[in-house]
Amino acid sequence: MASTNQKKLKELQDLLADVPFELLSLRDFPGVKDVVEDRNTFLENARKKALSFARQTGCLTLADDSGLTVDCLDGAPGVYSARYAGPEKNDLRNCEKLLKALEGVPNGKRGAAFQCAIALASPEQVFATVEEDVRGRVAHQMKGRGGFGYDPLFFYPEFGKTFAEIPSSQKHLVSHRGKALRKVKEILKGYLESQTILGS
Ligand code: IMP
Repeated sequence: MASTNQKKLKELQDLLADVPFELLSLRDFPGVKDVVEDRNTFLENARKKALSFARQTGCLTLADDSGLTVDCLDGAPGVYSARYAGPEKNDLRNCEKLLKALEGVPNGKRGAAFQCAIALASPEQVFATVEEDVRGRVAHQMKGRGGFGYDPLFFYPEFGKTFAEIPSSQKHLVSHRGKALRKVKEILKGYLESQTILGS
C-alpha cells in the first residue's frame, strides 16, 4: 500500500483486512524513493504512485489519492487537499483555512465531496483503477475527534453528523474510500483467480 499517511493507511488496512494478501506499507521499504504527486487529477496521481512503487518494490501496489472538492471553491482544495495550508500537511491548519475561505457562505452553498481514486499496479503496468466519491457539506465549525484530515468539517446530512463524530465502521459504509475499496476487493479476487488459472 503506497501511502505514508498513517491514518489513511490504518483505514486501508481495516478495509482490506480479509483479503488473502500480505499487506505491506512503504515503511517496509525504507529505501524507496518518494513519488511527487504533481498531476492534475486524483486518478493520474494514483496511477503514477502505483506504478512507480510497484517498479521499485517488485510488489503488487495499491495507491490511493484522495481529497476534498468544495463546489463554491471551484473544486479546491482538490489534489492539494493535504497541503492546502502549506507543505507541512497539517490537518488542523487545513481545516482552519477552509473555514476561513467559506466564512459567511450559507448551508445551501457549502456542498462538497470527498473523492478517492485507487490504482492497482504490477511492475509491468497499472491493471485496474477505481474512482468513488461521497457528497456532504462543509460544516460551520469543526466537530468530533475521530477520523483524520477534513473529517471534523465534513457534515454528512443522512447521519446528521460530521465524519469525525461517527465510528470509523460507520464512515466506511458510505465513504469514498470505503466504496472504492469494496470494488478493489472484487478486482483482487479476480486477479488471484486469473493467476491460479495461469499457474495451473
Ligand atoms: P493524499 O495522502 O495525498 O491522498 O492526501 C489526501 C488528503 O485529502 C488528506 O491529507 C486529507 O486532508 C484529505 N482526505 C482524503 N480522504 C479523507 C478522508 O477520508 N477524511 C478526511 N480527509 C481526507
